[in-house]
Amino acid sequence: MSTTATSKAVLESFNLSTGESVGSVPITPVNQVDAVIAQARAAAPAWAALSAQERADMLKPAGKMLIDKADELGRILSLEQGKPLAEGIGEVESCGQRMDGETDEVAKAVQPDILTDEGVESKIYYDPFGVCATITPWNFPILMPHWTIVPALVAGNTVILKPSEQTPLIADEYVKVLNEFLPEGVLQIIHGEDDQGKALVAGDVDLIAFTGSKSAGQHIMAAAAPGLKRLILELGSKDPCIVLDGADLDKAAAFAARNSFRNCGQVCVSTERIYVQDSIKDAFVNKLIEETKKFTIGDCCDESANIGPMVMSEQKAHVLAQVEDAKAKGANVVYGGQPHEGNFVEPTILDNLNHDMDIMTIETFGPIACIQTVKDGNEAVTLANDTEYGLGAVIFGEDNEASRLARQLTAGMVGVNRSLGGATGSPWVGARKSGIGYHSGPLGHRQFCQLRVVSTNED
Ligand code: NAD
Repeated sequence: MSTTATSKAVLESFNLSTGESVGSVPITPVNQVDAVIAQARAAAPAWAALSAQERADMLKPAGKMLIDKADELGRILSLEQGKPLAEGIGEVESCGQRMDGETDEVAKAVQPDILTDEGVESKIYYDPFGVCATITPWNFPILMPHWTIVPALVAGNTVILKPSEQTPLIADEYVKVLNEFLPEGVLQIIHGEDDQGKALVAGDVDLIAFTGSKSAGQHIMAAAAPGLKRLILELGSKDPCIVLDGADLDKAAAFAARNSFRNCGQVCVSTERIYVQDSIKDAFVNKLIEETKKFTIGDCCDESANIGPMVMSEQKAHVLAQVEDAKAKGANVVYGGQPHEGNFVEPTILDNLNHDMDIMTIETFGPIACIQTVKDGNEAVTLANDTEYGLGAVIFGEDNEASRLARQLTAGMVGVNRSLGGATGSPWVGARKSGIGYHSGPLGHRQFCQLRVVSTNED
């Protein structure tokens, strides 16, 4: 069963546990996408003429409204995406709570910089591009649009969102809330599957901020090439977690379990591979089993469950096929692995893995903790870097040694004895085939801007 089904005119979302309809939105006919873009283009000059701080201040009340409506919107999010209600509500709330700080941070980041040499003063302006298309996935169906829409808008672009066809309802609600406070045409939404996304990419847009799979990112990059359209691509990954002698094993096991199973493993920076040093392997695995017992599957409204169903049957089939491939090639099931009805996949620990198995090389996006034994940190780093991806990585070990090895990891974001989440102001950045460009933090906000340098003679 898929979350959504297309009929002639609407995208309908279904509760992933019960199959009941949650609601529907009208599909935007592909031949109307250019008209939507034209409206965004028409609204762009007046929006760009405001100061960044004026634009930021206009969005702030939307943050409060998101917080006020968090219960209602979080329920819609959870019903159509599957994550537990508390996480759905939390995702909505966090977007609301971030709004004041983030809008101010963008407004500050896009103020001009001044450089001087003897006889010359150069002003670096951070201008809007014009029209920004943002195309987003289903796994964090309000946070992902929020991450690109807020900087794009405050930087002075008008925006068109094409959310995932799996989670159109929450995206629609998000845009409605922001549009309570924005001028007409500044933020619009189009609904549909990849055809609508392709029409948007092919249309008269200046910047495409895409979050989603590597293969869709590759198509978008090729489609953007003739127009040399600006791109921010946030793509998939196969994040490693390294656990070495000297690590706090309680902390490492708690992290590895949570980061393998939260959101049913459907997180771009999920722990998809665990490399454990042989000397501490048994102790770590025992602790990981204990941590895994804390995760139970159930309907998003079942308060005793902390993992929901997978977002669609195709995703479940993909995860189980990787597990079967690994078992056929010698993997041991250490915990879980029992079949379940519907879209549920049980949190599972696999051991004795290697890089001949799909589950260690191809993005899984499911609740499977995958363990490979290594003899030392150098072997762990070599294996961790043996991937085309490079979004995040985490290493647990003795502080100095873990920090030294962290600099040898090829991921864009690395956590040492902690998760990879950075301090306020850090960009969200993938390396290698996990992305092009980055967003968030002052550096990320400027990716939504055209830099212009104006130099004058200094008296
Ligand atoms: P997806 O690529 O299938 O779809 C994402 C969006 O792109 C959807 O709205 C879809 O309709 C649209 N789309 C698909 N093909 C397109 C095309 N050729 N042109 C234009 N639009 C197109 O991804 P998904 O299954 O929704 O999401 C899961 C993927 O997203 C995973 O690979 C995950 O790692 C990645 N992801 C990455 C990040 C990050 O920050 N790097 C964050 C979240 C998710």
